[in-house]
Amino acid sequence: MIEEIQVAVVGAGPAGCTAAETAALRGAEVALIERKSEIGSPVQCGGFLPEAHELQSLIPRARLPQTLRDIPERCILHRTRLQRIYSPSGESKEFPVAGRVVDRRAFDRFLAYRAARAGARILPATRAAWTDGVLQLSGRFSALLRPQIVIGADGPLSIISRAMGNPGGERGICLEYEMADIEIDPDAAEMYFSADYAPGGYAWIIPLGEDLANVGVGVRASYLAGRKLPDLLDRFVCEHPVAGKMLRGGEVLAVMRGLVPASGSARNLQKDNLLLAGDAAGHVMATSGGGIPLAMVAGRIAGEVVAAHLSSEQALQEYQLCVREEFGMELDRSVQIRKMVDMAMKSDRLMNALLAALSPDQMKSVMRAQIPAALGIAREPKG
Ligand SMILES: Cc1cc2nc3c(=O)[nH]c(=O)nc-3n(C[C@H](O)[C@H](O)[C@H](O)COP(=O)(O)OP(=O)(O)OC[C@H]3O[C@@H](n4cnc5c(N)ncnc54)[C@H](O)[C@@H]3O)c2cc1C
Repeated sequence: MIEEIQVAVVGAGPAGCTAAETAALRGAEVALIERKSEIGSPVQCGGFLPEAHELQSLIPRARLPQTLRDIPERCILHRTRLQRIYSPSGESKEFPVAGRVVDRRAFDRFLAYRAARAGARILPATRAAWTDGVLQLSGRFSALLRPQIVIGADGPLSIISRAMGNPGGERGICLEYEMADIEIDPDAAEMYFSADYAPGGYAWIIPLGEDLANVGVGVRASYLAGRKLPDLLDRFVCEHPVAGKMLRGGEVLAVMRGLVPASGSARNLQKDNLLLAGDAAGHVMATSGGGIPLAMVAGRIAGEVVAAHLSSEQALQEYQLCVREEFGMELDRSVQIRKMVDMAMKSDRLMNALLAALSPDQMKSVMRAQIPAALGIAREPKG
């Protein structure tokens, strides 16, 4: 028997949970389907999330969901004040960024709880497959669903995006350790650029406490040239001239892997009764790899449009336009900037020169994908 339902959301990450909560609050009948047995776990994220006022200046036209502005303290592991960028030569520049480091396991479960409280059915340990207008569910809940609308919030290898005919864009491949007993700067989230240690990407240290951090490397496969990700991360931890001094001798408590979309928005965010949000839609800032904020904003928009569509107030086709209005420009710019930086990433000499030429303020603008602001500052006379 095929069960009819108004809205099926595939994937209970930040995008899917936000979409499910938003649509359910507006009266839609929603099922939220997640293949993981425990929503939010295993974690595949560094957890870095700028404070709400920083996010609002990053994506000024976006309406941030309340769950992105006011995160319960129990979901926040740590706070940082600075972002510090290291060039391949080991020179650093820093600028103020108020950051929260969230516990993704607790945060995703909090978001799923909100969706449940709004009236969504939550189906964990359940995998969805999509054929001919029917969602086949297997695992804890085995069923056939015929939804009026599907929101694909199923991450970087989205089956819904594939069903819509979107080509799989370029992705960053990431490996991250949670490390303890290390001597880090707990105030600073750090990024390290180097063709040697992180070809075509960067390595990071995201503090989780005084002597605890997520330490990772994210690269693009086309830059690897036969090198292996675990070797790169181990070398970064043990041998990097700056980071090695802080990390060497630390203990690895957890190992996480994951993919990050790196080529910006999918061509189609909506086709027929299918919508995409979050990583499934390529909603990740290409300059930083940060995807939580855009995923939640897109999830909110998807939930609103779907609910309005069900009450005949809005066409589903408007979804893509609404997303573009709220953060399309910033997302596109982040891809443009990344493409420019790609040229410099081919050689440490060029990368050193680029990072040396930028002031900390300009660097902050570039990280925020604000090209005109960065160039505007560059034109100002010195002194
Ligand atoms: C190593 C690493 C570090 C990162 N660090 C940061 C960071 O510090 N800050 C930041 O902002 N972003 C970071 N990101 C990116 C961030 O994790 C993502 O952008 C964010 O999780 C996107 O949310 P989402 O809801 O779109 O997708 P996801 O969080 O990936 O959720 C998708 C969900 O869909 C489920 N799913 C997939 N297929 C199916 C299926 N067929 N049936 C049922 N369920 C399915 C998955 O199990 C998953 O739970 C990082 C990514 C990686 C890999």
